[in-house]
Amino acid sequence: PPKLRFAPSPTGYLHLGGLRTALYNHLLARKLGGKWVLRIEDTDQTRYVEGAVESLLRTLEWAKLDFDEGPGRDGGKGPYFQSQRKEVYDRYLEPLISSGKAYRCFCTPERLASTRKRLQKEGSNEGYDRRCLGLSEEEVQERLAKGERNISSNASMTQEDLIYDSIHYDSLPLEDFVLRKSDGLPTYHFANVVDDHEMGITHVLRGEEWLPSTPKHMQLYDALGLPRPKFAHLPLLVNPDGSKLSKRAGDVRVEDYIAKSYEPEALLNFVALMGWSPQSSASSSPPEDSESAASAVPNSDNTDVLPLHDLIAQFSLEAVNKNRASMQAAKLDFLNRAHIRLKLEDRSEGGGRAELAKRARQILVDKWPELSEEKPALADESYVIRVVEALKDRIYKLLDIPSLGPYFFFAPDYSSALATKLYQSVSPEVYTSTLSKVRDLVSSLPDSAFEPQSIPNAPSPVKEALDQLVLSHPDGKKAAKEIMMPLRHALTGQKVGASVPDIVSVLGKAEVLARLDSGLA
Ligand code: GLU
Repeated sequence: PPKLRFAPSPTGYLHLGGLRTALYNHLLARKLGGKWVLRIEDTDQTRYVEGAVESLLRTLEWAKLDFDEGPGRDGGKGPYFQSQRKEVYDRYLEPLISSGKAYRCFCTPERLASTRKRLQKEGSNEGYDRRCLGLSEEEVQERLAKGERNISSNASMTQEDLIYDSIHYDSLPLEDFVLRKSDGLPTYHFANVVDDHEMGITHVLRGEEWLPSTPKHMQLYDALGLPRPKFAHLPLLVNPDGSKLSKRAGDVRVEDYIAKSYEPEALLNFVALMGWSPQSSASSSPPEDSESAASAVPNSDNTDVLPLHDLIAQFSLEAVNKNRASMQAAKLDFLNRAHIRLKLEDRSEGGGRAELAKRARQILVDKWPELSEEKPALADESYVIRVVEALKDRIYKLLDIPSLGPYFFFAPDYSSALATKLYQSVSPEVYTSTLSKVRDLVSSLPDSAFEPQSIPNAPSPVKEALDQLVLSHPDGKKAAKEIMMPLRHALTGQKVGASVPDIVSVLGKAEVLARLDSGLA
């Protein structure tokens, strides 16, 4: 059965490129009905970064990329930290030494570096002069093992790749490379090959930066007498100008996106589209039930809005682009808004809507700690989600709510410059007469008219009543302005915001009447 793996080194925080690699592994594993392993490649202790593993696990959990086997999820092939698997590597190394395919090398790092330099200057493809290859058994025993190298070969081989064109080497100039270091731990190459075999990996999906390592890996598989897995290398993510992805184009660390309240579904969608596109974007996944949530989202950007299950359904390696993918940060905002809208429609228990409510509430009480004390009803998830719904066309991410919808939580500041300007957009007579008309109208509506709609997206009684008021205005051209502007002023003190009927419904009868009275005063 197909088995894949994501094998990060804990040398820093997960970047977008790493998230994409994890995602593609997840997509292909699920698509093929297989499994995937999370393996921590931590054999280079000098590059270990404190907290990197914890951050990685947190991030994968946030993204809902659920590996089948890995730290905390035993699949019988652990441990899943390479630093804890020394015996496994030793078991594979001994036969290589006794058969002469690998040898012990005692050179110091300094000597290795100067030899490499000298050979390069002389125009050699080799990186090592094999000084230790000729040591006798006695000499070997006398010294302490510093490292084990395997023998270079000038073999011809073809490197097949599921994404790149296959590369044929007539005579592969391979230097003798280190398998086990003097600290007793294996090098990346050796541990990687042994573990991919031990863990039953069938497909190696990893970044383009590992392409040059692949001949070494193939050589190791051959020397160990093991079958090679299939390889697929994913083109690098780059800045729009082609340079290595950096902060210039936008944040690169996944944790930064989490902190900015992006939806995991949107960030996954975003990285999925960096280098891949659904083959027939016209036929985005068929609706799951009678109501197609996906088709409710305007595709203004020509960008496919795909939740994880649609990504799985549509993913294929054939559709991965060989060109390096660059990042367009604006696309993420568009996708994020679209995913918020999709999640609002998911009313299942603990589903998208419930999750948005919980997170939005947290954002609001973080911003305004007094809310839960002084106005607990406004800090309630059932209220907060109505605010999210009312603002769904304005916000790009949940973190935008406090700045774009303060009036849902606090009385407007009528003395602000904006409010004053808005007030002056109609005459005082019009202002007063509109507010009193609306006051009568709102008083006449039953409390139930302000409750959440049982049929999503159906026009609310409040909206119907306000529409009626607009229609009955003597001057059709001025109607909207003369009614909505004063109302917006009294309710929000801001020129733009959620739709006025939505604001009225969400604020509720008592609060609306109170604000109209303040406006009239
Ligand atoms: N440990 C390597 C990394 O940090 C993994 C490369 C591979 O997947 O083989 O990316």
